[in-house]
Amino acid sequence: MLLGRADGAKVSVLQSVRPKAHTGAGHFVIEARAMAKVVFLAMELDLQIVGQVHTHPQEAFHSAGDEEGANIRYNGFISIVIPDYGDHLPARTGWAVYRFRESGGWQPLDVDVVTVVGGIAAL
Ligand SMILES: [Zn+2]
Repeated sequence: MLLGRADGAKVSVLQSVRPKAHTGAGHFVIEARAMAKVVFLAMELDLQIVGQVHTHPQEAFHSAGDEEGANIRYNGFISIVIPDYGDHLPARTGWAVYRFRESGGWQPLDVDVVTVVGGIAAL
């Protein structure tokens, strides 16, 4: 999960946290107890949960299971999918980046909208 600040147009990620999750082919589930820990951390740091990131074994895209597992979604929420379990990091080769819109669901964004500054990713 990505913690940071969002002003409506720009999202700045200032902290990331990896909650305990159940994952498998085409799906992931973060149980309420694990998500509560993320919410608590965000509150302690005075940040918002601004997005999520996960990897795929091969191609990056938003699967139906990804959309089901994205329990937090609001206007501007970001979802990043990284291919090949992140083998190409820090290069952003093949990333799939989405922004949630209440009026249209998950909208794909060009990966070039992501700027990494000193290890901190900002959109
Ligand atoms: Zn996925």
